[in-house]
Amino acid sequence: MADRLAEHGEVRGAEVEQRGTSWALVAALLLMALALLLAHRGRQPSVPRGAETPATEFSSARAEQVLRGLAAEQLPHPIGSAAHAAARRRVEQAVRALGLEPKVEEGFACHPLGSCGRVENVVARIPGSEPGRPGTAVLLSAHYDSVGAGPGVADDLAGVAAALEAARAIKAGPAPRHAVLLLLDDGEEAGLLGARAFIEHSPEAAEVGADVNLEARGTAGASLMFETSGASAWAVPLFARRAPHPVTSSVYSTLYDYLPNDTDLTVFKRRWMAGLNFAFIDNPAQYHTPLDNLTDLSRASLQHQGESALAAVRALADSTPPAVAESGPPPAREIYFDLLGRVVLRWPDSAGLRVLEQLLLGAVLLLTLILLVRRGGGRIRRAAFASGLLAMPLAAAAAALVGLGLFMGLLSGAFPAKWVAHPLAANLVFWAVALAVALGTAALLGQRAGTRGLWLGVWVWWVLLGLALSGFLAPGIGYLFLVPAIAAGLVTGLVRPWRGGDERSALGHLFAVTMVPALVAALLWFPILLGLYTGLGGGALWLVGVLAAVLFLTLAPVAAAAGRLARRVLITAAAAVALAATVAAILSPPFSASCPRPLPIVYHLDDTAGQARWVVRGEWLPAELRNVAPFNATAGPALPWSSPGPAFAAPAPPLPLGGPGPQLALVQDGVRGGKRTVRLRLTSPRAAAAGMVYIPAAAHVEAARVNGYQVIPGAAGERATRFFAALQWIYLADVTLPAEGCEIEVVLGEVKPFDWYVADRTRGLPAGGDALVRARPAAATTIHEGDVTVVSRRVRI
Ligand SMILES: [Zn+2]
Repeated sequence: MADRLAEHGEVRGAEVEQRGTSWALVAALLLMALALLLAHRGRQPSVPRGAETPATEFSSARAEQVLRGLAAEQLPHPIGSAAHAAARRRVEQAVRALGLEPKVEEGFACHPLGSCGRVENVVARIPGSEPGRPGTAVLLSAHYDSVGAGPGVADDLAGVAAALEAARAIKAGPAPRHAVLLLLDDGEEAGLLGARAFIEHSPEAAEVGADVNLEARGTAGASLMFETSGASAWAVPLFARRAPHPVTSSVYSTLYDYLPNDTDLTVFKRRWMAGLNFAFIDNPAQYHTPLDNLTDLSRASLQHQGESALAAVRALADSTPPAVAESGPPPAREIYFDLLGRVVLRWPDSAGLRVLEQLLLGAVLLLTLILLVRRGGGRIRRAAFASGLLAMPLAAAAAALVGLGLFMGLLSGAFPAKWVAHPLAANLVFWAVALAVALGTAALLGQRAGTRGLWLGVWVWWVLLGLALSGFLAPGIGYLFLVPAIAAGLVTGLVRPWRGGDERSALGHLFAVTMVPALVAALLWFPILLGLYTGLGGGALWLVGVLAAVLFLTLAPVAAAAGRLARRVLITAAAAVALAATVAAILSPPFSASCPRPLPIVYHLDDTAGQARWVVRGEWLPAELRNVAPFNATAGPALPWSSPGPAFAAPAPPLPLGGPGPQLALVQDGVRGGKRTVRLRLTSPRAAAAGMVYIPAAAHVEAARVNGYQVIPGAAGERATRFFAALQWIYLADVTLPAEGCEIEVVLGEVKPFDWYVADRTRGLPAGGDALVRARPAAATTIHEGDVTVVSRRVRI
């Protein structure tokens, strides 16, 4: 049998079925299932630890005590609110309780997209055993402000509590070599304002050489080390050596660079400061909502976040960061990933190693080609090789087509938002489709390609993708192809399959050369695939399907050798599971009280026209709200300056707002050299915390300052600045507007006047809005800045 396979590159189902080949396929699938289970277990958060945990270690029970103090009233405490001042006082108290002296550093900073505010960062110091030198201290940072919609327990009071418990554990042990600075900062949600103020003005900033930042984009799940900054070739190995339960990959860091999200580390990253960023991201529908509370926070996540931070800070503080060259080339980066949450495998992304990787992959390719062509008494037929090569693009295309078809067709109603209440069935659909497609491809091409053609065809692609990704496109992702491809080369060199011998050993060889690299790939790929839905939302499921199909296709040689009946049974079973899961996904309610749909409500008073409206953005308005106010779907923008998009609006009565609307007074106006410079004062007579101006892009804003802080041209190198070109309105705001208002200075390329908008914003709806808030269904929620009242006025400037 084996010889015939080798000679003719053919598989005749009925002939090969007899000698256990079908069982080999079943065993291969069971091994993959085992790898999936191990990968799933590897990315669970740590087990919470009690108050009896030794003093030098991290205990989530102790951190929870601190957290309960910080979140005492569980009120939203955005920057500029009264609850925010109370939160800052509690942070100071918690620092004092550790025997550390809190220092409140006030400052003013702006995000490059225009949001500005006065911040109060709480800073504390644990001295190192060596005298402090510039660029040596380790910053342990988390933000204590929240968004307006919820109490911000996971995001980011849990980070603050974890930092404090880690600081306590560091103090309880021998002093670290270098100082550890706690930065419990302010105004992160308003545009990373606290981190900016720290780096720009704090006397401690120059001492810092590295940052460990704690964040959350959900309320549960493993604490991922998801982003590095600066010299990751220095920081990642130190973290890798000490982390008790690392869950990390350079894939996250690579993907994160493409996402619009920011954290405080973004600010430090711009200066090439070394840094490690940790966050847990499960239950993302609770992020920035009232459900980000003490009840919903996972204690396991708190433990995992804290113990990881403690290990990272200790490791970094005992080493010395490489000198930062702000204008120099980017520091060396690192390729890294955890293996089942136990160890981190890593190597530097250096030019030399890239060449070595390329040579190694080239050698693998050559070796396998020689072995497969020469051994076993016969050349592989060209048609067999060509069919084998076809397998990967065919499977990927089929999985993409079926996946996209399902997502846009049958499942189109199942994802009204990125994340839904019961995502298991929808996830299962794409995994099952992937398996059916991979087995189907093996069945379709097996006849022509044979086991040898399929093996070669599949792994040639892995080598080529490894070469392209590792060498040029995305080295942080390339290891996913590089490592399994090298494993394929090694095992083939050792086993030398398709060289004859009895049937049993031929099957053994086939199984070994298929399963060794397939399992290596599975252990590297599963943790990433399992995280894609939570990371990116339902829209990423078709990608999961494509990638899983590519992964499952590594089983093709064993699948092609299996009996036709077994294959059919398995393909049918996978298709049936996909179908049943599709039905289940369609029937599952997409939202629940613990996974609510975003539905924030705005009361907007147009002070120019004297008209008020209720506004709900989005494509959905439940009947409960329609019963309270006569909502119409409006095609125009939700607010005069927002980009066009679906919004519902209903006329609203004028309601008491505590004072008149915002004022924008022209203080100075002059034209010089074809440029117009205006100085304005923005005030809110009704004492709103946030005051905003919107300047039409046609006025050509060339420079802008808020309270003397230069917003435009903004800090280079930040993602936010990329979006500037597309904006129709230039936005400038003070989110901590004092009674005397703020001063805005703008240089305009156009000298003629334009209509600007001035607006102010308060949290919550005026008294008459209670009925709407009460009518909001249990499976819907306010989110981000929350329900707000906005008063705007058109001003000719
Ligand atoms: Zn946050």
